[in-house]
Amino acid sequence: MHEISVLKQAVDIAEKTAQENNIARIAYLTLEVGELSGFIPVFFYKYYPIVTENRPVFDGSELKIISVTGEALCKECSAMYNVMKEEGRCPKCGSRSKKILGGREFRIKEIGFDENLV
Ligand SMILES: [Zn+2]
Repeated sequence: MHEISVLKQAVDIAEKTAQENNIARIAYLTLEVGELSGFIPVFFYKYYPIVTENRPVFDGSELKIISVTGEALCKECSAMYNVMKEEGRCPKCGSRSKKILGGREFRIKEIGFDENLV
């Protein structure tokens, strides 16, 4: 359920960026969401219309989400593996001791402006 608050923050930033650049309309907002961030993309899609309601700059805009794979480096044998796929255990040596290399991110990747409406 914390998806709605981070999504609101992202939408606030996008709206502010549009205002600062005199952009009338945002075409799309692309977010990068890591598999290990704890955020579930389906909720972002669900909340997007709610969060952007009564914000004309987002009229007709689209939310895009890029999922970032959870990658880890095994501290025992230095193997790299997909955390979700291997359920947090090194497939090579079975150790759970690892360094997370990626997949915890939540960030705005791109704010797409509608050029025709600038
Ligand atoms: Zn290992």
